[in-house]
Amino acid sequence: MGFEKTLIIIKPDAVVRGLVGRIIQRLEDKGLKIVATKMLKIDEDTAREHYSEHVGKSFFESLIKYITSSPSIFIVIEGKNAIEVTRSLLGDTDPKDALPGTIRGDLGLGKGNAIHNVVHASDSPESAKKEIKLFFSEDEIHEYERADDWYHREY
Ligand code: GDP
Ligand code: MG
Repeated sequence: MGFEKTLIIIKPDAVVRGLVGRIIQRLEDKGLKIVATKMLKIDEDTAREHYSEHVGKSFFESLIKYITSSPSIFIVIEGKNAIEVTRSLLGDTDPKDALPGTIRGDLGLGKGNAIHNVVHASDSPESAKKEIKLFFSEDEIHEYERADDWYHREY
């Protein structure tokens, strides 16, 4: 609990559909802070490492093709309970089941055999640490105050 950092990936399907701004807007609106960002097309080895927990599953090879198909936007988000909060903003893995109001629930139906679901968020402190390290060096992660940081003051 407390202040956490987590990795968000705006996946290739969202980038080619022009949804980047809307997804970032939802994270910012929630009060989460962007502390790092970049665009890159994931190479195959990094994709396999990022999704290593899914090696051997039936959808693994399609997932690797999907995530390496086009550039993605990478964002390190910081905030109170950021891991749990971003996961609930995302909604269920399969967008057809994700509730309206969630990013996946509102922005797609998940076409394709790799479940195109527009966005990724780390699912635990351990995976957040591993995933942030995979895509960012320490000096790419910034520290600053958001204008609404006072909201988190202790009285
Ligand atoms: P997430 O943490 O909600 O993204 O879900 P997972 O970690 O379980 O899966 C990683 C990614 O693999 C998902 O975001 C989907 O793109 C894809 N995926 C997960 N489960 C399935 C599945 O059952 N079938 C297919 N085709 N793709 C899946
Ligand atoms: Mg996952």
